[in-house]
Amino acid sequence: MSQSFVPKHIEQLAAYSSAKSEKITGDTWLNANESPFSKTIDLVIDNLNRYPDPQPENVILQYANYVGLNPKQILMTRGADEGIELLVRTYCESNVDSIAIFAPTYGMYKVSAESHNVALNVLSQDDLNASNSEQLSEQLEDAKLVFICNPNNPTGSLVSKKRISEICTLCRNNALVVVDEAYVEFCPDQSVAQLVNQFDNLVVLRTLSKAFAVAGLRVGFLLTQESNIAMLGKVLAPYPVSSIVATLTEQVLSNDNIASVKRQISILNELKVELVDTLSACSKVAQILPSFANFVTIKLVNDSDIKDALKHGLVMRQFNLFDQTGWVRISIGSKQELQQVTDWLNRISK
Ligand SMILES: *Cc1c(COP(=O)(O)O)cnc(C)c1O
Repeated sequence: MSQSFVPKHIEQLAAYSSAKSEKITGDTWLNANESPFSKTIDLVIDNLNRYPDPQPENVILQYANYVGLNPKQILMTRGADEGIELLVRTYCESNVDSIAIFAPTYGMYKVSAESHNVALNVLSQDDLNASNSEQLSEQLEDAKLVFICNPNNPTGSLVSKKRISEICTLCRNNALVVVDEAYVEFCPDQSVAQLVNQFDNLVVLRTLSKAFAVAGLRVGFLLTQESNIAMLGKVLAPYPVSSIVATLTEQVLSNDNIASVKRQISILNELKVELVDTLSACSKVAQILPSFANFVTIKLVNDSDIKDALKHGLVMRQFNLFDQTGWVRISIGSKQELQQVTDWLNRISK
């Protein structure tokens, strides 16, 4: 029975269905854009009686060094997802304000907006790329936050730095432009992190869940000018990062580990090229979206061919995109895992 005192906008929400919350059985997990590389970390910790540093100093310094920004321009969060929610809660007035998104895109922008009773202004990826500045300015209406996922999940597409700069200029006095760079490590030249110095209305979101291969740790970073960090700090939970997470993150951001993550990225990018070759040669694949991230999204000729994958324990993420069913997002896993994709394609092509 639903409680009568729950606000209407909460009662009407559908709980977010993430790749992991769906109860699927399988052996080969290519549905959540996780890294196939897993690291074993030893932990000795002796100060759990104390509250943690709200923003662990060493971690912030390491990440500042990694992205080439000032430590004061960095906020550590529980995954990029907390960054998204924090932005909505800080900058949007419930029942009054709106955010703009470019569909199809990552689902959490909508979830965070709806759970805070903030309206959604849904534009298209075409609007993001094609419309001229004046037109886009009108389309954005009075959105307080403009979310640009770059590379975009689930299409893998990319928006140029020039276009992002234009949009920052366009929104200069009335909105924050939030560039979600969850996958930017797979095309590092495309990051707009340095533009934070230039635009005071730019926010960049980062995560350690994808290329850095520690989705289980729940660590993200928000990069923006210091005055915005101060505003977000008013809303941020007092101790968002446990000392355990902070200690482990120091190891993840060591120079040695960053070097090894970079090697893993080039392996995954090569495997992506091989996968695209295999997909291109398959007559049961109707369309392949060019991807700058660690996944490839395809349209099947026959929607029902996905069933054969699931039957064999191969789990990929299904989507409705552009009002069509039959889209499948394949994460770039290990060579062995991707062999399962090739085997599936061979089976359905018979
Ligand atoms: C995976 C993903 C996130 C979430 O990252 P976490 O740090 O694990 O919360 C954010 N944005 C996009 C586009 C993602 O694909």
